[in-house]
Amino acid sequence: MNIHIHISTMDGLSESKRFKSLVDARKFAQRYVGKHPEMGGNYAVSPYGDAKAVVRGVTLKKLFASPGKTPTECQCDYNEETGKSYTCEFCRLPSTIAYRNRARKRDARARIKEYHASEEKARRDGTWLPF
Ligand SMILES: [Zn+2]
Repeated sequence: MNIHIHISTMDGLSESKRFKSLVDARKFAQRYVGKHPEMGGNYAVSPYGDAKAVVRGVTLKKLFASPGKTPTECQCDYNEETGKSYTCEFCRLPSTIAYRNRARKRDARARIKEYHASEEKARRDGTWLPF
């Protein structure tokens, strides 16, 4: 089996890989577009539309053959007895991770803006201290 997968994402990632094994190819593709992507022709797109896999050497049906539905909410779990935590499939979706990264960046920008604003105000009020 000779499978070729090209991944491109909205974040600008572009990666091509060849696989001899269907299992390895599936793992690679699913890492980007999830287990249940939108499919068309020879490509598969992640549920949030931020990653695309162009596939050659195997049908999409075969590559993504797995029952079930795309998780739409967090089902992370923590086992108090073993102390082990389980990261759910939803949180491992590339689109979920990308979404969180974007939100984190937005928050950081907002915090910096807020900090500058409070500093400005303190300067105006004459309560600003350099340390
Ligand atoms: Zn989760």
